[in-house]
Amino acid sequence: MPVVTIDSVGQFAGQTVTINGWLYNLREAGKLLFPIFRDGTGTIQGVVSAKENSGAFEALKGLTQESSCIVTGRVNPDARAPGGFELHVETIDVVQRIPDSDPYPIQLKEHGPDFLLENRHLWMRTPRQAAILRIRAQVVHATRNYLDAHGYVLTDAPMFTPAACEGTSTLFEVDYFDEGKAYLTQSGQLYIEATAASLGRVYCFGPVFRAEKSKTRRHLTEFWMCEPEVAYAGLEDIMVLGEHLVSHIVQDVVAHRARELEVVGRDVSKLAAVCPPFPRISYDEAIAVLQKSGKDVKWGDDFGGDEETVLSSQYDRPVIVHHYPAAIKAFYMQPDAERPDRALSFDMLAPEGYGEIIGGSQRIHDYNLLLERIRQHGLSEKAFQWYLDLRRYGSVPHSGFGLGIERTVAWICGTTHIREVIPFPRMLYRIYP
Ligand code: ATP
Ligand code: MN
Repeated sequence: MPVVTIDSVGQFAGQTVTINGWLYNLREAGKLLFPIFRDGTGTIQGVVSAKENSGAFEALKGLTQESSCIVTGRVNPDARAPGGFELHVETIDVVQRIPDSDPYPIQLKEHGPDFLLENRHLWMRTPRQAAILRIRAQVVHATRNYLDAHGYVLTDAPMFTPAACEGTSTLFEVDYFDEGKAYLTQSGQLYIEATAASLGRVYCFGPVFRAEKSKTRRHLTEFWMCEPEVAYAGLEDIMVLGEHLVSHIVQDVVAHRARELEVVGRDVSKLAAVCPPFPRISYDEAIAVLQKSGKDVKWGDDFGGDEETVLSSQYDRPVIVHHYPAAIKAFYMQPDAERPDRALSFDMLAPEGYGEIIGGSQRIHDYNLLLERIRQHGLSEKAFQWYLDLRRYGSVPHSGFGLGIERTVAWICGTTHIREVIPFPRMLYRIYP
């Protein structure tokens, strides 16, 4: 018997196949049993009749939820069945029966978020969570594919760093042998500015760590970021890359993860609209929009989640906000030649209130200006010698951004909290399991 996955049973209509899976649910109706099996690729309803198949009936009757089992049966097209097929069970081999005395903790009913997070290692088996993890994998795949296909070279940045990019307050500290303190990276950017000067177009893609005490539905302490960096590129170039990359990711998920988007209940028509060009507004315009809508903000303020939601809710696709005040942005951002109080920077805000998914900028390429900024920010000149070297030897204008993977997945899936879109979330008050 061919061993098949549930997502491919359609190719085996009328044939007898074997599925390696788990019992997701069981409905008993007298002499008929209606099990639902899952195997990680989907779910399928089965049917077993006591009259026709007493062996399978006895093996399945009373079988507990999440018991592992190998099922063989005929694939019957059935318009009423979810997925369009039903499994006419012939044999069932129970691999592990979960005893009635110690049932699977997650029943098919509503549970509170704390309970589910405490049981994340089991919670991830539910169809909705499995669908989210598949969509996440597709987002990562699409991100890499797009950049690889457009000449960007993957150059990994280190996780251990000797000094802070932007101050130590949001860094996790570790003891590093005789070298003293090291920090877990919060961005690979500074390092890939070096690899960009070596290779032209590069990106890094890995976990980053932030010790900020944000307890919001958008913040994790460990998350994944994809950071492209491009030599000989200005703000305009990098904004265009951002909108093309994000629309590619969304359309790739729509094309390849339709079933999963349905499982999570996503309105796909909203995602289909996500294609370039994205609307753009300057920070100055954004302030005007916010003031008009009654927000108490003035020029120079940074935007929080509420402001971002007001701005993004005006559009059906992500909006790019550019030219933020230099004072609220990082030390390495290139000032606008006409108005040096503004940085050549941009954020991309996802629609439907999902907030910032990208932060990026053109970087300072002038040695003296960068040195001045390092001093102004009270950063260690010694620690940044190598970074200043990039401005001493063949410096060019260059730009890049960071795309937050979990923010992107949360938006694409329409989840209310970012904790659902990473296998094991790390948050202010959670490091188990
Ligand atoms: P925010 O203001 O929303 O906290 P940020 O401006 O500090 O974000 P950046 O340093 O610009 O974030 O990081 C680039 C991207 O990484 C963000 O656009 C966002 O998508 C993502 N990101 C930042 N912080 C977090 C976090 N704590 N958890 C998950 N994703 C994050
Ligand atoms: Mn940002």
